[in-house]
Amino acid sequence: MKTIFEKSKAGKTTQYLPEITKAKNPGRYLPAHLLNQAGADLPEVSELDVVRHYTNLSQKNFSVDTHFYPLGSCTMKYNPKINEALCQLPEFTQAHPYLNQGQVQGCLQIMEELDRYLAEISGMDGFTLLPAAGAHGELTALLMMAAYFKAKGEKREVILVPDSSHGTNPASASMAGFTIKQIKSDSEGNVDLAELEKHLNDNVAGLMLTNPNTLGLFEKQIVKLAGMLHAKGALLYYDGANLNALMGKARPGDMGFDLIHINLHKTFATPHGGGGAGSGPVGAKGELVKYLPYPRVAKAGETYHFFNPEKTIGKIKAFYGNFLVLVRAHVYIRALGGEGLKEASEIAVLSANYLKEKLKAYYDLPYPRTCMHEFVLSAGNLKKLGVKALDVAKSLLDHGIHPPTIYFPLIVPEALMIEPTETENLETLDEFAQIMIEIAQKAQTNPEEITHAPQNTWVKRIDEVRAARELCLKG
Ligand SMILES: *Cc1c(COP(=O)(O)O)cnc(C)c1O
Repeated sequence: MKTIFEKSKAGKTTQYLPEITKAKNPGRYLPAHLLNQAGADLPEVSELDVVRHYTNLSQKNFSVDTHFYPLGSCTMKYNPKINEALCQLPEFTQAHPYLNQGQVQGCLQIMEELDRYLAEISGMDGFTLLPAAGAHGELTALLMMAAYFKAKGEKREVILVPDSSHGTNPASASMAGFTIKQIKSDSEGNVDLAELEKHLNDNVAGLMLTNPNTLGLFEKQIVKLAGMLHAKGALLYYDGANLNALMGKARPGDMGFDLIHINLHKTFATPHGGGGAGSGPVGAKGELVKYLPYPRVAKAGETYHFFNPEKTIGKIKAFYGNFLVLVRAHVYIRALGGEGLKEASEIAVLSANYLKEKLKAYYDLPYPRTCMHEFVLSAGNLKKLGVKALDVAKSLLDHGIHPPTIYFPLIVPEALMIEPTETENLETLDEFAQIMIEIAQKAQTNPEEITHAPQNTWVKRIDEVRAARELCLKG
């Protein structure tokens, strides 16, 4: 497909409005030396060309709205359209961040309520809604940790991460100036407490943990683990990108976590995956609440107002975060209610276990335990046939299914990490299972078909190394 620049033809336009493109006296507003003499290098196409170009491009997209998308750890659930309808109300989209507080009381109310809802759901004492994504939330919380220990006069330089952790964890810790030490998992996929004991000392600031972890498994000894860290004066950080398994069932705050980020764009239903606006609020407990970034919102009588936490680390995002994502999360929480959120988590976990049971006879299941919202298979059993996890993923594309996350977590060779979410019906789950089974069977009878997939897509098998080294965006 041609780019819009390649479709350009000199002089081609659509003109049904009077020509006003050349202002009579542009120098009226700007001094001549600031005016662009050469003209803008824009494609010259008709309005209909523009509409067709972008409509066609949009239809080549793969999305939750078009296809099943079981991309592990990404929670690609259906995002209810009511979220979009409400967050597009002009009262929200046109609320200028410089308006004074009295003029945007409704917006402040949304923020104050969302802060409380998240605290209730997660068992934390207070939140900042500013961080723009999960990784940004991690960085925020780590900067809070650093400020907290500095205020206590303690020098702690190390952050511990399990070997199953999401790559953003060590990256954020490093960015916040910490040194990273990795903790091995035990044979059941949990943090190995003996290993943890070995690494725990007065130089450890904290441990970053996902629970359920990236294997989709619940840390069985979480309370003991939290006790071990606290006994050494260290903090426990919860990577809550994957809160989808726990809503209304268990709360990180009750498990002993001190700081948490929640990916609103995953669990609380904002379209994501294209790098668009996200939100990763950070929650804190006890003393740590005082270190949250500013501003937060409080209610006094009937009015809402901004305030700065006592020992705030400062500002980590312009204005008030990605406000429209906050509106979507607020709408989602209100629409589902407490019972609805609980049911969402129950179905998410049930769906993952249903698929795990259907597929375990055809793929390796390295940790055969009840899983939470996702599970990790291994295509290791197909490797001797010349078929890799990558081939299984490419083959799914031929069937109109987005592949699971592959080769992550790193501790599972040929990993296929599957997260169906609660919003897929039984029919879709069964269809997916059937296709996965057929792929495993075809690996025995006709492996070439799998290793040469995809055949039905716009782009066939690509050389991924070359794509990264010789970046070409022309398509
Ligand atoms: C998605 C995810 C993150 C990062 O979130 P972003 O919003 O993409 O920055 C961190 N940890 C886990 C476990 C995740 O699944």
